Amino acid sequence: MPLQSAADVLATCIGGVADPAQRLRLQAITGQLVADAANYDQLARIQSLHQVVRAPNVDAVTRSELEALYSKQMSATNGAARGIYSALRNAAPNGKCPLCGIGTVTVLDHHLPKARYPNLSVCPFNLVPACDFCNMYNRPLRKGVRSFF
Ligand SMILES: [Zn+2]
Repeated sequence: MPLQSAADVLATCIGGVADPAQRLRLQAITGQLVADAANYDQLARIQSLHQVVRAPNVDAVTRSELEALYSKQMSATNGAARGIYSALRNAAPNGKCPLCGIGTVTVLDHHLPKARYPNLSVCPFNLVPACDFCNMYNRPLRKGVRSFF
């Protein structure tokens, strides 16, 4: 399990947003996003992630803004939460990809895709270390598994 709480990751990501008005709108939905992360964790523990409800946006914050919170503040090398990205990515034992057990971890991958679940774009429970192969080629398979539920 990630050592970083959903609230800490959100606060760090939001802290890196330059636009004060956007920062305020993101802070206004932090409680909802933390609750969504807790709900994800609960459902994951009982193998019921298929019950996670898709969110096209969260109140006044759009999907693209929530996706950008990840791409600009976590995965970008100069992002405010890049340190958290690295810590989560490096948490895989021996650097082995937990998805295939063969490849070497190079990236973080969204278990539930951020395009469909933007409210989970920076949820630490939803971010899984992955190798290049799984990041590139395991997606269709995993999407197929998801739509099977
Ligand atoms: Zn892999």
